[in-house]
Amino acid sequence: MGFLSRFRRSAKTLDDIGSIASEEDLTIVPENVNEAYEVKTSPISEHEVESEWESTEMIDSIHLDRDKKSQKLMERKQQSQKITKKASIEKRRLKLVPRPSQGLSIDIDHLVDKKSRRKISATPTFAKLMSELEITLLEADMGHAAVDEVLTAMRARLIGAPLPKKGDLERIIDSALIGALDSLLRVSYWDFDQTVQSLMKDEIPIIIMLVGVNGTGKTTTAAKISHRLVQEGLSVVLAAADTFRAGAIDQLNDHAERIGARCIRSQRGGDSAAVARDAIDSAVAKGDDVVIIDTAGRMQNKTNLMQELKKVHRVASPHIVLFVGDALAGNDAVEQAKTFQSFLNFDGAVLSKLDTDARGGAALSIAHATNKPIVLAGVGQGYDDLIDFEPSNFLTQLLSDDMDPMSFTIVARDQNE
Ligand code: GDP
Repeated sequence: MGFLSRFRRSAKTLDDIGSIASEEDLTIVPENVNEAYEVKTSPISEHEVESEWESTEMIDSIHLDRDKKSQKLMERKQQSQKITKKASIEKRRLKLVPRPSQGLSIDIDHLVDKKSRRKISATPTFAKLMSELEITLLEADMGHAAVDEVLTAMRARLIGAPLPKKGDLERIIDSALIGALDSLLRVSYWDFDQTVQSLMKDEIPIIIMLVGVNGTGKTTTAAKISHRLVQEGLSVVLAAADTFRAGAIDQLNDHAERIGARCIRSQRGGDSAAVARDAIDSAVAKGDDVVIIDTAGRMQNKTNLMQELKKVHRVASPHIVLFVGDALAGNDAVEQAKTFQSFLNFDGAVLSKLDTDARGGAALSIAHATNKPIVLAGVGQGYDDLIDFEPSNFLTQLLSDDMDPMSFTIVARDQNE
């Protein structure tokens, strides 16, 4: 069953094409008819989602994201940012090596009757179609904000556009939908390997900190990233800074032995910031290239967890912070990402378990909700099962049960589009 099957069943029943049209004089139809169905969505600005590692706001504030109170809080926080902190974060960002992003579209130029005087309009049938789409996307575990964005983009792309010939409408809707989904994933992608290489030109060890909720795959991801770097000829130290979860320390140590990395650990219940510090000191002493810090993720005590993570961050001062989200957790993964982002300001996400029957909503919503890209994806339990996340490949796979992948065009995307 495809990602969009429910919505597409409903789109197929649009046999009376006139039910979503009105007859009016057309304004000039652009030469490139694809443009008639396009709208530029505005990416979320950096400061809308950004906060500082040193923020002392309580976790509850994240639930007030869009209301006036949080608006004021955010403005106040922005004004009070210390210059030094700002500078270090800016410096780190500049070091992330951008990766040209590819987008997906369906060419519909040949389908549109430019002389048609009929336009797609917001008829009850059109509204019903949009509400089917809304249910479909929510059922696919997409977050509400991302679903709203898709619906707004769909309306803007379709309403007022020339009505195609009977039989072509479905394709026009596909094209608008793929454009809307594609723009959700359009944030600044950066390349993991190139970023590590570039950072290493200035100093070693490069410090990478992984954060996320227990069970999402943090420890496994730490092992996969280490394996990837060891395969590239780098020496890696793993810091077992999840001193809380039973078994996490031994699990990481076992991985390290198998991969050919070193593991620095303490007793269960030890000070995780001290473990991170010891791992960095040890890497400096032995000239290792990379330190990867695995952290705790118990969400039942969020405030303490965030304080602990902030301490680890302060002590370790990582070059890269990655949030690990579980694709199977769907919308929960999106909410977790927003929570961590509001406290920890990570640089990118790793989406684990993409090989499972995850419904795709988390991948589609995380970048939109946090304005940070999914950089890597876990696609299995083996050490090699870690891939660069490429939005156009992901969308192609997600939609290939519903649409003919041969009709997809892969285009280079300007991130600021
Ligand atoms: P942590 O508590 O966040 O450190 O989570 P773990 O690393 O212990 O992973 C929890 C479970 O998810 C383990 O059984 C892992 O093997 C599994 N896991 C992690 N990543 C993936 C993945 O990409 N695909 C699949 N299928 N399983 C994964």
